[in-house]
Amino acid sequence: LAGRMMDFPLTVTHFLDRAKSLFGGVEVVSRNPDRSLSRTTYADIYRRSARLAHALTRLGVAPGDRIGTLCWNHARHLELYLAVPAMGAVVHTLNLRLHPRELGYIANHAGDRVIVVDRSLLKLFRAFKDAVKTLERVIVIGDDGEVEEADGLDYEKLLAAEADAFPWPKLDEQAAAMICYTSGTTGDPKGVIYTHRSIVLHTLACAMASVTGVRDSDTVLPVVPMFHASAWGLPYVAVATGAKQVMPGPHLDPASLLELMAAEKVTVAGGVPTIWLGMLAMLDQSPGKWDLSSMRAMLIGGSAAPPSLIDGFWRRHNLRVVHAWGMTELSPVGTMAHVKATMKLDEEADLAVRSTQGYPLLFVEQRHRGEDGELLPWDGEKMGELEVRGPWVAASYLGDEGADRWTEDGWFKTGDVVTIDAEGYVRITDRSKDVVKSGGEWISSVALENALMAHPAVLEAAVFAAKHTKWGERPLAAVVLKPGQEATKESLYGQLEGQFTKFWMPDDIVFIEQIPRTSTGKFLKTKLREQYGDYLLK
Ligand code: ADP
Repeated sequence: LAGRMMDFPLTVTHFLDRAKSLFGGVEVVSRNPDRSLSRTTYADIYRRSARLAHALTRLGVAPGDRIGTLCWNHARHLELYLAVPAMGAVVHTLNLRLHPRELGYIANHAGDRVIVVDRSLLKLFRAFKDAVKTLERVIVIGDDGEVEEADGLDYEKLLAAEADAFPWPKLDEQAAAMICYTSGTTGDPKGVIYTHRSIVLHTLACAMASVTGVRDSDTVLPVVPMFHASAWGLPYVAVATGAKQVMPGPHLDPASLLELMAAEKVTVAGGVPTIWLGMLAMLDQSPGKWDLSSMRAMLIGGSAAPPSLIDGFWRRHNLRVVHAWGMTELSPVGTMAHVKATMKLDEEADLAVRSTQGYPLLFVEQRHRGEDGELLPWDGEKMGELEVRGPWVAASYLGDEGADRWTEDGWFKTGDVVTIDAEGYVRITDRSKDVVKSGGEWISSVALENALMAHPAVLEAAVFAAKHTKWGERPLAAVVLKPGQEATKESLYGQLEGQFTKFWMPDDIVFIEQIPRTSTGKFLKTKLREQYGDYLLK
């Protein structure tokens, strides 16, 4: 028997319409490069999105065309997030922390016809512009200042000439809406093409009370950049639910963020652990300086959040961290660590569960597989590679690349080594390429890092594989101390003792100034391996 319900497409256009008609007065606040704040509303963003769609149409943009963005988080970037997909074109976010060589490769590979660039990023743009053979037009967002004609078309002037309403086309929900590239920590960056449908379903799942629970009473601060995995979809979640948004622009230092959180009464913020580590250190230095009483959830993901970070925010500052796992290939959110109502836990066990990467969102399915290819039981012990599937998981990359990332029966191989417990909670022990393979045994660098970062004098710690004549590889730890603090190797080893078998203990600990970072703020272990790979051979 055929169903008799409407075939109503799930598209980003609906977000845009809804925000205008139901939440038109809700604010979007952006921090400008000169630190001033600009305020706009969803009603205004709707009008400006219509103008943007007219302007792009006038420039010859057709359905399916790629529009690159080289922008910080701000309201105009949100306009691009909404107007470009709604007009049937595809917004392609360029990661401004990449090397110009990579940016040139990516923009070319995606076939960007137009690139919209912040004036403050023109220097970077000029360094790769000529490499983009498909590029026809450049539009410059002037950050409220003048745009030189030689640099490109002025975003504001383009919009000023257009009408406030646009005949948004009827779209196929399976059409491309956005392209994000993985940052290429393994091989060339690969393009993931989100569809309208995948974005809508990801948004709905992320908004659920059991995930972020974002609603119209919230104020959302996406610290995570819009140029990386759609800022975890937070801008779309906020538009769809009518939540206020606060965009930090280029000012991502802890003091600027804390000030913004307090001044705008932010309730939900999301970012990678390195950002929150700096913020926690600053709060510890000046407790009570900022009123953060409106904060209800600080979402942390992108790399493992150390339990000491989750615990430190909670115990010392009454701030709730929610740990999540995701990947560009998953739009990006896959799991989130909330404690289930059926689990009656004491404080310590509660922290242990909240330190896992959590259990899958509705419609994400997971399994893990051992080295010999066998599927593993959910016993919380056996380590294997995580595989996932679901309606917002990529089915292939742009072009012919990386087909080996999918199993024959259509699951995506994440490259993350995990255990899964009986309740379905995933614990990431490593990325497969970061696992330390010592003799026949796998040593979890993440577990060692978490333990080191629980030491009161440690700001950051990364554990990585160094070459070893007898064992092939052995763990080596790189540690950054908090400013003005001291710690001996002995006291750091003391921190690890009792928690790990002798065989897991790092062979040595090196003290360094800063741990090298990837373009998305994660520890760059390849760099550490380059620098210290032979350290144990000497
Ligand atoms: P890349 O780091 O290659 O640019 P992504 O930004 O998509 O790509 O990162 C995805 C990866 O980040 C995951 O495969 C996983 O290794 C890591 N990751 C994300 N969230 C977490 C987390 N909460 N804990 C540990 N690792 C995480």
